[in-house]
Amino acid sequence: MKRDRKRVLITGGAGFLGSHLCERLLVAGHEVLCVDNFYTGSKDNVLRLLDSPHFELMRHDITFPLYVEVDEIYNLACPASPVHYQFDPVQTTKTSVHGAINMLGLAKRVRATILQASTSEVYGDPEVHPQTEAYWGRVNPIGPRACYDEGKRCAETLFFDYFGQHGLAIKVARIFNTYGPRMHPGDGRVVSNFIVQALSNKPITIYGDGTQTRSFCYVDDLVDGLIRLMASEPEFTGPVNLGNPTEISIGALAEQIVAMTGTGSSIVYRPALQDDPTQRCPDISLAGRHLDWRPTIELEKGLQETIAYFEKLHSSNQLTY
Ligand code: NAD
Ligand code: UDP
Ligand code: UDP
Repeated sequence: MKRDRKRVLITGGAGFLGSHLCERLLVAGHEVLCVDNFYTGSKDNVLRLLDSPHFELMRHDITFPLYVEVDEIYNLACPASPVHYQFDPVQTTKTSVHGAINMLGLAKRVRATILQASTSEVYGDPEVHPQTEAYWGRVNPIGPRACYDEGKRCAETLFFDYFGQHGLAIKVARIFNTYGPRMHPGDGRVVSNFIVQALSNKPITIYGDGTQTRSFCYVDDLVDGLIRLMASEPEFTGPVNLGNPTEISIGALAEQIVAMTGTGSSIVYRPALQDDPTQRCPDISLAGRHLDWRPTIELEKGLQETIAYFEKLHSSNQLTY
């Protein structure tokens, strides 16, 4: 085995972000063990990696213990879109909390460095803008988003308690809205929804008045940030924001996707979602300082790649919506 080749476990590796991460780590020469229960991910996402002798795919639910020998763990397993995480909210919390305990127990036993895919949702509907890591957040603990938001907040607590109590090597990334090829076409996230609606010439659905904002990071930039975080100096645990600080309103995003796809779809307005954050934008100065990281891919370029991916699904009749 190459001396710098690591054995890397990626939970949720058959999902959107996980599949890109698997690919990047294989290309970098590592052994990748992808663990997934295929709740929202799929074998299709990692199909072309299966030929690699350095890639292994294991069906497993991380709410159950897992005994493997690895050097690094990226803990990405968790449904990430509101439609999917609210479908079975108890399972969502279990995945974040029991899953974190099992992966932390595993990391403790094998002395692996473990990275948690946390989220901007820990900030809830924020009163501070843009959000820095020092902000504690404003989350409704019993609202429809709570299973995800509070599950992720508890996972962060567990990571820092394993760090404090057991001296574990931890890294916590707070990921902001990320998009790109292999997003699930039916997961209801805004970029995939708008593109799928545009390609199918169906109305583009804006929830609320479209003035709420998000900041969209292209998947390649995000994966680069995760890899840099894993490789950062041992004292740097995070939490660290990873996302694109260019903010855009949902109304403006709809117009951009209409223009880029040339669709005949109309834009329609639906009632706002409960507890939908009105503004979201990361302050990424900490990532700049510690990881020398900032996104480089413009929204227009990223949307071109993403539209091309969904066009391919559309033309082969694989676009179910
Ligand atoms: P995704 O739904 O595509 O991927 C999640 C993967 O986890 C799927 O493959 C799913 O099958 C798997 N999974 C779910 N529960 C599991 C369990 N109990 N055991 C094993 N596997 C399980 O979502 P994604 O966008 O790739 O998100 C990956 C991670 O990044 C998630 O933890 C998510 O919370 C976090 N994140 C994503 C974003 C984003 O914009 N994409 C933003 C913030 C945080
Ligand atoms: N665990 C695991 N794989 C391992 C080691 C532990 O899945 O290689 C699980 C184990 O089932 C336990 C959890 O991780 O429930 C937490 O482990 P820890 O050692 O922190 O706690 P304890 O075993 O004392 O409960
Ligand atoms: N949204 C929308 N139409 C859709 C899907 C989402 O207007 O078809 C809005 C949603 O209300 C939210 C924003 O787009 O304000 C981002 O939603 P998404 O589910 O992608 O991410 P999150 O809310 O988790 O940031």
